[in-house]
Amino acid sequence: MWCPFCNAEDTKVIDSRLVGEGSQVRRRRECLHCSERFTTYETAELVMPGIIKSDNVREPFNEEKLRAGMLRSLEKRPVSVEQVETAINNIKRRLRASGEREVDSQALGEEVMKELRALDEVAFVRFASVYRSFQDVNAFREEITRLEKENTE
Ligand SMILES: [Zn+2]
Repeated sequence: MWCPFCNAEDTKVIDSRLVGEGSQVRRRRECLHCSERFTTYETAELVMPGIIKSDNVREPFNEEKLRAGMLRSLEKRPVSVEQVETAINNIKRRLRASGEREVDSQALGEEVMKELRALDEVAFVRFASVYRSFQDVNAFREEITRLEKENTE
């Protein structure tokens, strides 16, 4: 790591600690040449599978889009930002754990529904109705019954 002040190549780490619940390493460094100190953050670059949309168009996984969709469903619901972030992390972890290079947008939608259902029934119904664009009430009811069954299994 080069010194950002004098560009010297020799810098040493004087302190190193985990931050962000262990997902990040914060390092304090000192330049051996000019003695200036600076901080670096290190985060693992985790590769998310790409998303295949229903029209077969591929797009990269977009966490912002996922978050926006979930927050829209959770509008004015008693769910904290932290809970939403945990849900997003759960979804990302499961997608990565699948080991697939690409996943269907439908599989992603199912993951979101699973998380929303555990967080808030109203948000789940909102999301599911938009996502599935149910033709009629019966199809929607069937879906809920299916998910309930899945949850108890
Ligand atoms: Zn320096």
